[in-house]
Amino acid sequence: MTDPAAFTSVPAPAAIVARERATLAPYAMYSSGSRGRRYAEPPHAYRGPFQRDRDRILHSGAFRRLAYKTQVFTGDLGDYHRNRLTHTLEVATVARTLARALRLNEDLVESLALAHDLGHPPYGHAGEDALHACLAAQGGFSHNRQGLRVLELLEQRYPEFPGLNVSAEILDGHAARIDKHLDTGNLIEVQVVEAADSVAYDTHDADDALELGLLTLEELLDIPLWREAASRVRVRYQGLQGKTLRRALLHELIDWQVSDLVAQAERGIIEHAIGSADDARKSPTIVRASSPLLEQKRELERFLFDRVYRHADVLRLRDEAQSSLQAMYQGYLARPELMPERFRERAASDGIERTVCDYLAGMTDRYAEREYRRLFAAA
Ligand code: MG
Repeated sequence: MTDPAAFTSVPAPAAIVARERATLAPYAMYSSGSRGRRYAEPPHAYRGPFQRDRDRILHSGAFRRLAYKTQVFTGDLGDYHRNRLTHTLEVATVARTLARALRLNEDLVESLALAHDLGHPPYGHAGEDALHACLAAQGGFSHNRQGLRVLELLEQRYPEFPGLNVSAEILDGHAARIDKHLDTGNLIEVQVVEAADSVAYDTHDADDALELGLLTLEELLDIPLWREAASRVRVRYQGLQGKTLRRALLHELIDWQVSDLVAQAERGIIEHAIGSADDARKSPTIVRASSPLLEQKRELERFLFDRVYRHADVLRLRDEAQSSLQAMYQGYLARPELMPERFRERAASDGIERTVCDYLAGMTDRYAEREYRRLFAAA
């Protein structure tokens, strides 16, 4: 957990306090219980703290740039598949559904969901692996760790302080992803976002791979998770085929997983007698798929790993992305004057290697491509 002494709590507006008291479950995270912000700020007249966090994240440059960052498939492959922004919005919408069903703090859930991938560099996990290799001697690079740097340091929105000065609960929730401290010790709001991420990518990566022709529907229907979804769909509709069947399956997969998570969470809340946010922090994670479904999800993930994430077309783009990022890293290291001034200034305190990676990680895929061609590609 972030150092409690370093935060100053900000009173929530009375209308927000009353609204939360009337609508949230006892185990939810209430605005009035927030540990506050690193830099003291006056309260807002009518927006609660987590509502302000959500707005800050949404208005950040890092958030807008998610639109041109790879989720799994790059923009060269077409316009159907998810990018990192649409993935983030799918996570947020699933997470809000879970939050509302469980009467959790939706503003906090939405903030955590919208921020969850802010630290992703261009080119998805290929980009992350490339930067990790570049920074091997400096402790490496991870998108989760980078997300905290974005929230606390790299976004410059206010004259008084660096970063977005979001609430401690946002930083703690994000930090849990870094240590993979996800089995215990987290608010239910944090757990819900983690579960929603998995619902979203398991479903949409398969859908994108179908659209791109990397898989066929018949192959997916051999996987137990999809097979069971198909039998559920057939109860309601007979004779669906092709894209109509595919859409019904996607709908069913999300609905089934979300309903399972809600039931599991409700059971866990009773079983562990979770009656407050503090209880949630002391309990094991309760928002997790039931064991048969979890096993089916793992099997789907293994299948997607072999057939999609390791597909020859995906690997080829991955190699290209990694070599261009590595060349850019070396290039900016050798000629830091090519970076904007605010990055050059930070090099004095954070080291040139970390600073170059901060600059590269903030780029969109297309900006990185353009800069690579403009500055570093062999003529
Ligand atoms: Mg994600």
